[in-house]
Amino acid sequence: MIQKKVIRWFEENQRDLPWRNTSPWGVLVSEFMLQQTPVNRVLPIWNDWMTRWPSPDSLANASKADVIRAWGKLGYPRRALRLHESAKIISTKHDNQVPSTYEDLLALPGIGDYTAAAIQAFAFAQSSLVLDINIRRFYSRLYDGIERAPQAPSRVERELRQSLIPKQGAHIWAAATMEIGALICTARAPKCDECPVKNSCQWRARNYPKSTPVIKPSFTGSDRQCRGIVMNQLRENPSAGQSDLLALWPDKSQVELALKTLLADGLIETTGKNRYRLPK
Ligand code: SF4
Repeated sequence: MIQKKVIRWFEENQRDLPWRNTSPWGVLVSEFMLQQTPVNRVLPIWNDWMTRWPSPDSLANASKADVIRAWGKLGYPRRALRLHESAKIISTKHDNQVPSTYEDLLALPGIGDYTAAAIQAFAFAQSSLVLDINIRRFYSRLYDGIERAPQAPSRVERELRQSLIPKQGAHIWAAATMEIGALICTARAPKCDECPVKNSCQWRARNYPKSTPVIKPSFTGSDRQCRGIVMNQLRENPSAGQSDLLALWPDKSQVELALKTLLADGLIETTGKNRYRLPK
């Protein structure tokens, strides 16, 4: 049976990740950080973060500037502000305990369907439909015979995957499928020889037909890269003048746009006289 083989493989091969043996708060922090960011970049930041802010109220009492600095170069720093806001809500409305229901989790800033389901599974050992990019790729190859899952899960995909969740150990199935997608059924070079369910894989049986390639926009020269450079400057200095910030990047209009959007996102603030700093 596929479920048993995948779970046995997981029990023998899973990585020793610190958020697999931590509090619900540690799981929640890891899920915020792991959104669009690989494990190896998250590990040192998560460890520092949990040492510094081991509970929701400790983070809630931190300044925005400290939170943004501690987020470092993980990218997409709006996640840091949303995690900070979530910590405030958890400490005041939920008695400093991460809530366990889907509805309460979804009501927190920065938590969408995937993150709510993942926290239910990994923090509370509940049965939930966890569909991240690794799990969806593994499922689509194994059961549907296609290389890559569509951009977003459809209602049909969700119903099909829901029907695969075992009654016992649903949370382990979620962790196991995620791990096998991350380590074995990888996007570019799946290690099919090591896959415990290779003989059931529809994509392998069809001799690996290719999906239409997805062209990702380049990071180099992008508005996102420009925002990151501005943020880095303000993380490392108490404040900076607009002229200093404009000198960081060849296209001044991109810096002006970065400043405008960072202000709108609440990630920086102006102190007047064209000077900027991280928010207090
Ligand atoms: S056999 Fe290969 S492609 Fe199929 S599920 Fe296993 S690792 Fe993925």
